[in-house]
Amino acid sequence: LNRRLAEFGTTIFAEMSALAARTGAINLGQGFPDTDGPEEVREAAVRALRDGRGNQYPPGPGVPELRAAVAAHQERRYGLSFDPDTEVLVTAGATEAIAASLLALLEPGDEVVALEPYYDSYAAAIAMAGGTRVPVTLRPHTTDEGPVFRLDLDELRDAVTDRTRLLLLNTPHNPTGTVLTRAELAAIAELAVERDLLVVTDEVYEHLVFDTAEHIPLATFPGMRERTVTIGSAGKTFSFTGWKVGWVTAAPALVTAVRSAKQYLTYVASGPFQYAIAEALALPESYFGAYREDMRAKRDLLAAGLAEAGFGVFRPAGTYFVTTDIRPLGESDGFAFCRGLPERAGVVGVPNAVFYDHRDAGAPYVRFAFCKRIPVLEEAVGRLKALA
Ligand code: PMP
Ligand code: GLN
Repeated sequence: LNRRLAEFGTTIFAEMSALAARTGAINLGQGFPDTDGPEEVREAAVRALRDGRGNQYPPGPGVPELRAAVAAHQERRYGLSFDPDTEVLVTAGATEAIAASLLALLEPGDEVVALEPYYDSYAAAIAMAGGTRVPVTLRPHTTDEGPVFRLDLDELRDAVTDRTRLLLLNTPHNPTGTVLTRAELAAIAELAVERDLLVVTDEVYEHLVFDTAEHIPLATFPGMRERTVTIGSAGKTFSFTGWKVGWVTAAPALVTAVRSAKQYLTYVASGPFQYAIAEALALPESYFGAYREDMRAKRDLLAAGLAEAGFGVFRPAGTYFVTTDIRPLGESDGFAFCRGLPERAGVVGVPNAVFYDHRDAGAPYVRFAFCKRIPVLEEAVGRLKALA
């Protein structure tokens, strides 16, 4: 492994899913649903396969049906209009969209300001692009609704230097469940305009926001439409994480740049699934509402269970993850805790420290995924209560 990638061995998700498989523990580590997405969307993929749509290389930017569906979704939900031909790019999942964006937009040595903890592929993709990551740490705060992680806007401002090329954002945020507010996003937008920064914003959990939280795409703020690369994924929204269909929406020059990098990574994304996701994006609002409601109920179950089991619980406003504090259990090292948890309780979680450069800041936090069937979550909670 070369020096750029030396620090990135096996991803924590592979390590923890292997641990779950080896020990037979309930896997609340890697974030994937244990129920597949809508039957009609699966049928659409089967039809595409049978009818020979997408069995050979689809067009580089994505099949026209999916690009049109992505544009229609952004328009319908957010009032953002994108030209499907010049402003939408289909990728092999959000992971490729992130990598291609950074490879296309960074010069070696450029600084990328990213919220910490960050999804693990960010650090590796920044490194592959020859950039330097500058983490801004989300800090725990106590609120009327309980503890949450919040962005300190002054810290964000201070992190921007003359070498900063772009901000890499993620809202709703994995792993903390934080959803950036309108005021926070407005301040980020002002900063980006003032310092002439590009923003790559990972909005793969856009449909998973709960209670009073609202997902507002950064691209809707003044001055942002032309400097923002927005990333979405069918994996999260339709519970088909194995299909690896993602997309980018941005101004033509940015999409052209990202497409240049994407061409030499995968050339194109999987054909038949693109047709199926085009149909999925056109599902009625009732699908999205029911999905959100289902996940909210699961969040409530797991969050309450973890609290009863003695964890400190950061109630997530979005995503399908709960971040916990293990110090009330008399523990302080999330790594050691997660490595021992299958043996002690038959459950797998992920130590948040892997998502930090400032490992100490993340040491006592552990993430559990709630995108699992209710009986599975109930069983996991029962086992975790035995820890106390
Ligand atoms: N970004 C975030 C914040 C994620 O949590 C994930 C998946 N866990 C991805 C990107 C990757 O998405 P995909 O599977 O579409 O590549
Ligand atoms: N995004 C998922 C998570 O955060 C996992 C994705 C992966 O395994 N790379 O758990």
